[in-house]
Amino acid sequence: MRSTLSNLPTFLCDKLTQQYSALAEQIADGLCEHLTCLRVNRLKSDPETVKSCLQQAGFKTEALPFYEDALLVRNGDLSTLRHLSAYSEGLFYLQNPSAMLPALWLQPMPGEDLLDMAAAPGGKTTQLAALCGNKAQITACERHPIRAERLRFNLERQGAGSVTVLVRDARQLEDWFSFDRILLDAPCTGSGTLNAQDEADSAHITPILLKKCTTTQKALLQKADRLLKKGGRLVYSTCSVLYEENEATVMPLLKSGRYRACPIDPDRLNGISLLPCQIPEAVCVCPTDCFEGFFAVALEKC
Ligand code: SAM
Repeated sequence: MRSTLSNLPTFLCDKLTQQYSALAEQIADGLCEHLTCLRVNRLKSDPETVKSCLQQAGFKTEALPFYEDALLVRNGDLSTLRHLSAYSEGLFYLQNPSAMLPALWLQPMPGEDLLDMAAAPGGKTTQLAALCGNKAQITACERHPIRAERLRFNLERQGAGSVTVLVRDARQLEDWFSFDRILLDAPCTGSGTLNAQDEADSAHITPILLKKCTTTQKALLQKADRLLKKGGRLVYSTCSVLYEENEATVMPLLKSGRYRACPIDPDRLNGISLLPCQIPEAVCVCPTDCFEGFFAVALEKC
């Protein structure tokens, strides 16, 4: 029987094997349909209330140890959970747990000016608003108008009232903007989130796409550098496990000496399986049945 790795397109199979050697098989096996997870929306609810709503509807929840607001629902899928009134009322947001990490690592504070550079559909923007109790000024930038509509819808549903949406290419933001903290959840190949069982899902990862993504990622990161205040914090993340989109994109900023990578609180990694990474303070989450493959690093501007 062919392994999951060898079922991937040759380009991706070779990339994973070059970068991760024997671990490439494990990564490919983790590229599957993930279990359903949600994040409790603290602007409208709390974990106990959400757990009891789900229990009454026949769903069993499990807490995930890295984050008190993350719940795993083993016996539910996205479409059934979307029918619950607790979902339409915005008491929770359906989100893979890996995607909950960047907003946590940004450590936003009430009163600060925050920028979410690539924001739609708003999973991380709504989490930032919740982490600050709607008391930070958040600018959420999204290039595509239709995706920006989805972002606005989710902000409204989640009660994230402190957010200004800019429908713009973030690379074109004027340099006179300045922010205390910036989240750059960059557009990427999605190599950490594809389903390896579904050929069409992985076929889109080509050398051309990778080149296009890395060019955009570098340009967005340069813009983030110009918009971040001294002493400010920048979190760069992708849902890719490829070196070119992750370490290679961030390394020039670190080499400039103007940034330092901040270590992550180990409690926030509890229960998460990690891949080797060329930047010791960064994390690359290994895809599993629960977690999508994901990269994140927190940088402080010296
Ligand atoms: N952070 C989002 C969340 O948690 O829901 C997911 C962001 S998704 C990885 C990347 C988003 O960036 C897409 O919605 C895409 O349309 C947008 N995008 C791509 N290029 C952009 C650019 N140059 N400026 C602003 N947004 C961009």
